[in-house]
Amino acid sequence: VQVPPKATHQQTREHNERVIVRTVYELGPISRADIARQTNLTRTTVSDIIAELSGRGMVEEVGRGPSSGGKAPILLHLVGDSRQVIGLDLGEEYFTGALVNLRGEIRHSIQLPVQGCNGDEALSLVYRLCDQLVAAATGSLLGVGIGTPGVVDGSRGVIRWAVNLDWQDLPLADLIGRRYDLPVSLANDSQAAALAEFAFGDAPRVPNLIVIKVGRGVGAGIVLGGELFQGDGYAAGEIGHIGMVDDGVACRCGGVGCLETVASAPAIVRFARALAAETPGSLLLRSSRRQAELTLDDVRIAFEAGDPDARTAVLTAARHLGRAVAFLLGAMDVHRVLLHGSVTSLGQPWLDAVRDEARRRSLPLLAGRMHIDCVDARLPVVALGASAMLMTRDLGLSRFR
Ligand SMILES: [Zn+2]
Repeated sequence: VQVPPKATHQQTREHNERVIVRTVYELGPISRADIARQTNLTRTTVSDIIAELSGRGMVEEVGRGPSSGGKAPILLHLVGDSRQVIGLDLGEEYFTGALVNLRGEIRHSIQLPVQGCNGDEALSLVYRLCDQLVAAATGSLLGVGIGTPGVVDGSRGVIRWAVNLDWQDLPLADLIGRRYDLPVSLANDSQAAALAEFAFGDAPRVPNLIVIKVGRGVGAGIVLGGELFQGDGYAAGEIGHIGMVDDGVACRCGGVGCLETVASAPAIVRFARALAAETPGSLLLRSSRRQAELTLDDVRIAFEAGDPDARTAVLTAARHLGRAVAFLLGAMDVHRVLLHGSVTSLGQPWLDAVRDEARRRSLPLLAGRMHIDCVDARLPVVALGASAMLMTRDLGLSRFR
């Protein structure tokens, strides 16, 4: 039997510091005596570490609490802007980056158009985004969190496969970490969005949660028991390539009739275009300059104006998604689902169709407990989630705000 090596003085100190930072963050404003009570550390240890944290600008005094007989205790809180994290969303149309403080507040954000670039060009674009954010930081940088489409091995920081960007086995965390000398954490974009909702979301905190991105691709991030579930090969939640339709359209993955080919933004546009081509005087065709240029926004406008072809295209796609949601919830018995991505701009009727189909295809017992909603589209959830991931890992923070 091997005796585990005794923690070194340095390790103990780092551990205690993390425990104290987390306590001040979650329970602050809080007195030194209450920190000691909460953490089971001695008053001396707490005072020493607080002195050091306050020297580094992370903790500050914010007045006095109620006295319990003696002198009123000094209260402390964590300075939100003492550390900032770079959160990146390597999205489909844009690479978005944000400087996020410890409270999840966005201090600065930048968006660079991808314009179809891939491979090394796309990597250069990531560097350009990081360069600008590093230059704009007003607090000490804690690290970089990255959410990217595709299959991601988060523990090694490697993108296994991102088809849009033509990246295969790209060690992105290592490349960014060495270039900027900062810790980096990497996750799939849907997983990052799930973490954002878990860390910063307004909804009551639930241990299990599924966040589904519906844009050019379709993918889910799954949080189980408060932890990101990544599966055996880091591809948990890759629902976009579940076969939905026999003899369907060829998918970019090589398969046929995948969920992506019937529920994604390009699928809706393609379907609407095909229907409109057979409708003389179609509103859809008038709303785009040329039929070939039809966009999801054109479909949305026609849909809102009551165009029957747009309606068919949108609601058919919604029902396919609802069916996939029913599979997912049936397999996992998770009650809370959040949707985000460009397709959610189709609004309430689209969401209602997803909900109806998911309920119709589920056990009544489960259907009654389902909560399917859309994420606030104004929030950069992927960049926020990527930064939450880094704060969780490097500061031990789990609740934010
Ligand atoms: Zn596919």
